[in-house]
Amino acid sequence: DPACGAPLPVLGRDVTVPLVTGGEVTYAALDYAASAPALQRVWDDVAAYAPYYGSVHRGAGYLSQLSTDLFENSRVTVAEFLDCRDDDQVVFTRSTTDSLNLLAAALPADCQVFVFETEHHASLLPWRDARVTYLNAPRTPGEAVATLERALADRDPYGPALVCVTGASNVTGELWPVRELAAAAHAHGARIVLDAAQLAPHHPVSVQELDVDWVAFSGHKLYAPFGSGVLAGRSDWLRAAEPYLAGGGASRKVARRADGGVDVEWHDSAARHEAGSPNVIGVYSIASACKALTEAGFDSIVEREQSLIRTVRAGLAEVPEVRVLSLFGDDAPRVGVISFVVEGWNSSHFAAALSAEYGIGVRDGLFCAHPLVRTLLGSDPQTQGECGAPEAAPGEKSLNAIRVSFGAGTPDEHVERFVAAVK
Ligand code: PMP
Repeated sequence: DPACGAPLPVLGRDVTVPLVTGGEVTYAALDYAASAPALQRVWDDVAAYAPYYGSVHRGAGYLSQLSTDLFENSRVTVAEFLDCRDDDQVVFTRSTTDSLNLLAAALPADCQVFVFETEHHASLLPWRDARVTYLNAPRTPGEAVATLERALADRDPYGPALVCVTGASNVTGELWPVRELAAAAHAHGARIVLDAAQLAPHHPVSVQELDVDWVAFSGHKLYAPFGSGVLAGRSDWLRAAEPYLAGGGASRKVARRADGGVDVEWHDSAARHEAGSPNVIGVYSIASACKALTEAGFDSIVEREQSLIRTVRAGLAEVPEVRVLSLFGDDAPRVGVISFVVEGWNSSHFAAALSAEYGIGVRDGLFCAHPLVRTLLGSDPQTQGECGAPEAAPGEKSLNAIRVSFGAGTPDEHVERFVAAVK
């Protein structure tokens, strides 16, 4: 059952790696959930622009003007990609982690935050200084909505509140019921931010259709190079907050006061939270990736990826020692992110063998989602594993897992090699 359509051209297709068994093989990058290879198209766009790049918002020269235009047009491209509301702001950050920390720094006073314990650490941890309620792992999407509803019903109804939820899990690949969670949040006067780090590369994300207040994602998971990310959404909290970083670019006017101090007027626009010289190459590459994915069409991207998912899941199901980790069950809609353990195997050794013997790059560990992986493995939350910690002894329950993940650039041969290797 070969996947329909062709994979999108990405960098690294022809990279060969040595095998311990002798010889070499083309590298099968199956760790897209960590970082996806850059699209060839993005690389070409960046290479075409690179000789012309200059400072953004700072120079009178032609190339500075050109770079400023590209930078600001990239904002428009991202807003279109996310189907933002007219008055939403698109703030360029370094990553999803940075975006969510920025929003955490911009919370109104006394904001209550609600977050499931199943979140990636980037969406679990930034709220620690707020009044945060951690919600227990649900076992169905419906239970997720009911759990949130209950928590919100108990909250102080007059203060501000924020729900933070991931669109697609970086551990199970399962989709979360974002629209329903957003409706629940809004029904209780709360706002919601969507961690789309794993959703945006695989599915169209519409701020308006999902009715979320903010979206965060990272360029390096969306087929662009490292170093840039996005926080897009409502401007009021962002405008009311102190700048995330103090410095040039964020400030409109700075003057000495008679008492010797300094007065600052900050920008109200996205620039308020973008102090310092911006990463114009990173931002331009995100915009290029957004355009490339839109032009390729998510219908065919999704169809192809679902076919790869079926190949991997069917292959893993034929190996009795393999247990695939899932919160919502086999029928849950999912993206191409699949975690599993192999009975009798140390997960780190298993992943190392996939690399050394087959040239396949996967990830092992707890995937920066320790509470979720522990829940799925059934291990004791107080005592078990850290990322990179020693594995379970033979016969003991696994303390970490193996994750295979893929996307728009993955050829059939990579997932077929993976399935054969596991077998
Ligand atoms: N959220 C999710 C769901 C993720 O998978 C990741 C990255 N693994 C992040 C947030 C953080 O992304 P970044 O490392 O690019 O900040």
